[in-house]
Amino acid sequence: MRIDILTTFPQIIEAVCSESILGKAREKGIIEIRAVNLRDYATDKHKSTDDEPYGGGPGMVMKCEPVFRAVEALTATSMPTRPRVILMTPQGKLLNYKMAEELASQHYLIVICGRYEGVDERIREHLVTDEISIGDYILSGGELPALVLVESVVRLVPGVLGDETSAKTESFTSGLLEYAQYTRPADFRGYKVPDVLLSGNHAEIERWRRRNSLERTLKRRPDLLETAPLTDEDRAILSELQAEAADSARNS
Ligand code: SAH
Repeated sequence: MRIDILTTFPQIIEAVCSESILGKAREKGIIEIRAVNLRDYATDKHKSTDDEPYGGGPGMVMKCEPVFRAVEALTATSMPTRPRVILMTPQGKLLNYKMAEELASQHYLIVICGRYEGVDERIREHLVTDEISIGDYILSGGELPALVLVESVVRLVPGVLGDETSAKTESFTSGLLEYAQYTRPADFRGYKVPDVLLSGNHAEIERWRRRNSLERTLKRRPDLLETAPLTDEDRAILSELQAEAADSARNS
């Protein structure tokens, strides 16, 4: 998989992509991530990538030429598939697990980071295939959003996570939130780890984890239960949990 991130701040991208999971995935050769400096594709002698907005108003707008030229130069070299060209923008579709999973199956992503007031509308209209937001707030640039996107995608690419199973049990994968996790010591200042996790009884542990997962999802994100695939046993556990919650509400 190849990911090219178009930015005017390539150092921000490099700093994150050379560490931890992303850095290792790169070293192992599973993914190729590159920060592409938009200034290298500017056409004037000042290497400018932004200009004043037509019609007036505050701030600057990212120009068409550097972004179009960068994408054209990158795609001119032989790539078997057309890339997805993603614009990071607070006006895009909200990033979620499903989108990350879908993008993880692609061979080539180009991610465009905006700055200032955003990008010239013609980039959005004639170059971009996907517009993605990471949340309902405004950041000063698309670099952090692009890194959030890239990290959420790359960890789903086979071979990237050391333990192949760990992406499978995480929150959202199964449609539920993940169960509570504990590590040594078993007793920390009198705060104890649930006995069942120390029992060595794997069937019991599985049952406890499923119940814990259902309980947290019911408490924190009941909306997820509407679409999560649930077994009859899950539904029975949920009714039990709801009855318990109603009981304790009555008693308090
Ligand atoms: N004036 C624009 C916001 C510009 S913010 C508007 O109101 O829509 C500058 C750049 O930061 C954007 O071009 C985008 O690339 C990035 N950005 C800021 N917040 C973001 C978010 N929540 N999700 C994705 N990208 C974001």
